[in-house]
Amino acid sequence: MHCPFCRYTDSRVIDSRTADDGTAIRRRRQCPECNRRFTTVETTSLSVVKRSGATEPFSRSKVLVGVRKACQGRPVTDDDLARLAQRVEETIRAQGSAEVDANEVGLAVLGPLRELDEVAYLRFASVYQGFDSLEDFESAITLLRAEREPTGQEPDSADLAVPPAYGEMAGS
Ligand SMILES: [Zn+2]
Repeated sequence: MHCPFCRYTDSRVIDSRTADDGTAIRRRRQCPECNRRFTTVETTSLSVVKRSGATEPFSRSKVLVGVRKACQGRPVTDDDLARLAQRVEETIRAQGSAEVDANEVGLAVLGPLRELDEVAYLRFASVYQGFDSLEDFESAITLLRAEREPTGQEPDSADLAVPPAYGEMAGS
């Protein structure tokens, strides 16, 4: 591999370790010419077969186009999105095939997106699964509620109570 600093045509591997859950190998390299160090990441090539039948290389940023749209106005950070894209890629690579349907990529987004933000999940699912009626949303929401991890308590009725009106707080 060429040195990215001086373009020398060779480099030496000084360290290799698996990364991203075993789906990649990260190599630390050193240029014998300028002695600078750089890192390369080796993964199997992964292609996505689009609905049209055309294939293109898997790209995390393409995964994020639709997800980011679904997250508009939601409390989701760029870091959250980067982690989500990484999980999607790991899920797909763990299936072990070099080629996946675009559909499977969408499917792999649903789980992590649901954990991240339920509203964004519903938006994404409505596009991806082609919701075309309120009933579709209702059944998705019912499913969400049913599968929701028990988080302890429903909001306490005291939290929902209307605070005392200003005049009543003064005491008498
Ligand atoms: Zn160099």
